Amino acid sequence: AAFLAAAAADPSLAAGIYPDGHGGMSEPPPGALTYRPSAELVALTRATHCTCTFPGCSVPAARCEIDHIVPFDHNDPRAGGWTITSNLQPLCHYHHQAKTLKLWAAATLSGDGIFWTSCSGLRRITPSTYGTVMVPDDFVHNRPPTPSPDPSTDHYYQHVDDGHAPESTPAESTPAEST
Ligand SMILES: [Zn+2]
Repeated sequence: AAFLAAAAADPSLAAGIYPDGHGGMSEPPPGALTYRPSAELVALTRATHCTCTFPGCSVPAARCEIDHIVPFDHNDPRAGGWTITSNLQPLCHYHHQAKTLKLWAAATLSGDGIFWTSCSGLRRITPSTYGTVMVPDDFVHNRPPTPSPDPSTDHYYQHVDDGHAPESTPAESTPAEST
């Protein structure tokens, strides 16, 4: 909320921390001037944001396209946005198009957040998730565990295969009082 208020007062903040798409670097690292990101970069991008970064969109990053936040310049790759983690984000096909059509603009914030501004002036922030799946507070996990092919070698499964809660652990001992 504080950032949104600050951005309303100072529109230059909407350009984000890397308006040139160079991630604060003066020299492009290997691969930065190649349009298509490496598999490693794609994985890193999808780990940073587990869904399309458009506000409220829940399309999993695995089914998203990889967008250059500051567009890649095919005629002058060094001048355009580079193919680096801070300039990449997962976008579903629909929201990728919305950005390409300039209905919305995106910019990188510190902490890998994405600042979205619509052509009509709406502003939203999408925080990074770093692989953490966001679940609603009222979510109830009621799907029974699926059988493991070989429970004897599956350490995780051994704790859940009877459908009961894991064995209760002894109550934490009260720390000895230091006197
Ligand atoms: Zn989307």
